[in-house]
Amino acid sequence: MSQEHDPYQVVNPATEEVIATVDLAGPAAADAAIARARRAFESWRNVAPGDRARLLRRFAAEVDAERESLAALEVANAGHTIGNARWEAGNARDVIEYYAGAPERLFGRQIPVAGGLDVTFQEPLGVVGVIVPWNFPLPIAAWALAPALAAGNTVIVKPAELTPLTALRLAELALRAGLPEGVLQVLPGRGPVVGQRFVTHPDVRKVVFTGSTAVGRSVMAGCAARVKPVTLELGGKSANIVFADADLEKAAATAPYAVFDNAGQDCCARSRILVEASAYDEFMDRFERAVRGVRVGDPADEKTEMGPLISAAHRARVASYVDGDTEVAFRGGAPEGPGFWYPPTVLAPIAPDHRAFTEEVFGPVVTVVPFRGESDAVRIANATEYGLSGSIWTRDVGRALRVARAVEAGNLSVNSHSSVRYWTPFGGYKQSGLGRELGPDALHAFTETKNVFIATEE
Ligand code: NAD
Repeated sequence: MSQEHDPYQVVNPATEEVIATVDLAGPAAADAAIARARRAFESWRNVAPGDRARLLRRFAAEVDAERESLAALEVANAGHTIGNARWEAGNARDVIEYYAGAPERLFGRQIPVAGGLDVTFQEPLGVVGVIVPWNFPLPIAAWALAPALAAGNTVIVKPAELTPLTALRLAELALRAGLPEGVLQVLPGRGPVVGQRFVTHPDVRKVVFTGSTAVGRSVMAGCAARVKPVTLELGGKSANIVFADADLEKAAATAPYAVFDNAGQDCCARSRILVEASAYDEFMDRFERAVRGVRVGDPADEKTEMGPLISAAHRARVASYVDGDTEVAFRGGAPEGPGFWYPPTVLAPIAPDHRAFTEEVFGPVVTVVPFRGESDAVRIANATEYGLSGSIWTRDVGRALRVARAVEAGNLSVNSHSSVRYWTPFGGYKQSGLGRELGPDALHAFTETKNVFIATEE
């Protein structure tokens, strides 16, 4: 196999059938794409703000029109439930539409100085390389490409090897919407080949990486060698903290979906449930009923709540966390036969140093531990290298705020598990990442501030 011809079979994780073959790019194709993006940048940065905005709105409209087919493609490629896949396609549309409002609003400042006029400009960086994981192929690509394009950059997206299909479709829709050739490219390829080229190529001026903390660290080190800016969205081990005064029925009924959604392959998964000791037994009773009720099966079925894992290798990795010594408190069901199925699994009690409690499992496995009082809850929640999201369940508003301020994580919810809105910032503390996506601040991750002084003295 030559490095420039690398056919990759894309598999449906619910059936194990090959659904497409995609040619993965080698180093020469990556360099050619970067050169195309570099050329396209010269004209894209000069497209009038109103025209850039109009093109992005048309792009959002194309995505909207294809929502159903994009969702079906994600069900087949990633095993996402149809309900989730529809939300994801709608989220990609919303993010593009939201940042379509940015080109005419990318304000600089006028700063008072003596002897002249001082103004700042928010200027695009150039070519942006976006490296996407397999767990949310569409939204994660959109979260980076939309603000990057709006700010006047050109973009190359490298989807994960396992899940390139919806991103490839997105590139077609961009062209159909009228975005000029080379402004948005999607280049399937292997991480160490195409992803690394984004890191090392001098014409790629920014890398957005979403994926594991281990690879993110190496991407950051590579970018450091070239002083290249990088946004990192990495792993998580988030806490779902349930106080005894909470609505226990609601907390227990929603807890499975906060960790088993997308079969646990979610960086925001609340995979450590911390329950106040005095409510532990009552919570576990209700939680067991809720876990046994999670509907696992054919992701195309509208009633399904959890699909398969992404691959056989990933399933083996998830299963390795549930070893002989671990206490399985209870489990949900999963289909037999083809497909990379794994049942929702609850581990309790669990030793604080057990790797299922300390590492990101990225599958439908949750650990439950009791705590005694507010400070104990915060201590356990923060006893991790990660800091992405988390939930706090209590009826005491003061406590909710105290704990929300004390937990070291970027996205917290009180009496809810929602972490993602396209118009609010998203990102991690500690080793969960660097920088913020979404919301009003993301544009600054794709611009340089230029300061210009104009003398007025004769
Ligand atoms: P991964 O790190 O293995 O791969 C992510 C991407 O990086 C893929 O496109 C891969 O091809 C590429 N890659 C691999 N090696 C590379 C290298 N040496 N140089 C450049 N690119 C390389 O992660 P994954 O298994 O695809 O995704 C799961 C991980 O992603 C989990 O840890 C999860 O928590 C994390 N994640 C984080 C967020 C977030 O927003 N914080 C969102 C989704 C997923």
